[in-house]
Amino acid sequence: MRADLHAHTTYSDGSPLPAMCRAAERAGLDAVGFTDHCIAVGDDFGRRERYDLTETYERRREAIERMRPRTDITVWDAAEVSYVADAEAETAELLAAADFEYAIGSVHFAGPYDYTSPGQYVDASEETRRAAVERYFDAVVAAVESGLFDVLGHLDLPERMAPLRGYSREEDYERVAAALADSETVPEINAGRVHESLGRVHPDPAMLDAFLDRDVAFVLGSDSHAPAEIENRVPELRSVADEHGIDPLPADRILTGRAGASETESAPSR
Ligand SMILES: [Zn+2]
Ligand SMILES: [Zn+2]
Repeated sequence: MRADLHAHTTYSDGSPLPAMCRAAERAGLDAVGFTDHCIAVGDDFGRRERYDLTETYERRREAIERMRPRTDITVWDAAEVSYVADAEAETAELLAAADFEYAIGSVHFAGPYDYTSPGQYVDASEETRRAAVERYFDAVVAAVESGLFDVLGHLDLPERMAPLRGYSREEDYERVAAALADSETVPEINAGRVHESLGRVHPDPAMLDAFLDRDVAFVLGSDSHAPAEIENRVPELRSVADEHGIDPLPADRILTGRAGASETESAPSR
């Protein structure tokens, strides 16, 4: 099955759901997962105010239900949930209440650091930049160890930002790989900046062997916010996977929510 597990609709910062579905069809996919942004608690960076799927997931669920008879591809009702270290209990509650088919856990910020915009690092010292990146990987390891998420999102996100690029070290990837090898959480190959600033997928393809050596499996996520992005990024994801001999993990291993469990008998419990 050719699946893209990471796409955004107007229920967060993406494009209309029907248009995203049509683009997924044109990209030759068998399945697409809508993973709008979700966060269990407010934070200093205003993400909850901007992307509040916590308030709208039921409406989005109805929109997905309306879409399903109108497309041949499978549409998953999922979420990209920001990991917040001191809100694991609230996040677990949110996930239990919303019962998404699967959840991507992403570190978008940690403590004082925002990893979605370069502003705060432009004038920062080398030490601050490295500290920000180290803190990021601490949070990624904690997100994996929390066991809250089915998928780990874009695992070297700081590399997207020019001032933090090159501050991720091999040892950072190694400790994430070790945590993943011990966990049910599966990382994604993420194409969110494959044609833009970064010009490659997450994680760094130079580091993929560190994961493959530990038999870490991957899923594919375009992280598209616009229809054209799905069409342009899906072929890139496939070529990276082929190049590294990666066979994406079958989606029935990821679907853990109620709807997912009804679609497949082999869905693991979490
Ligand atoms: Zn993200
Ligand atoms: Zn995303």
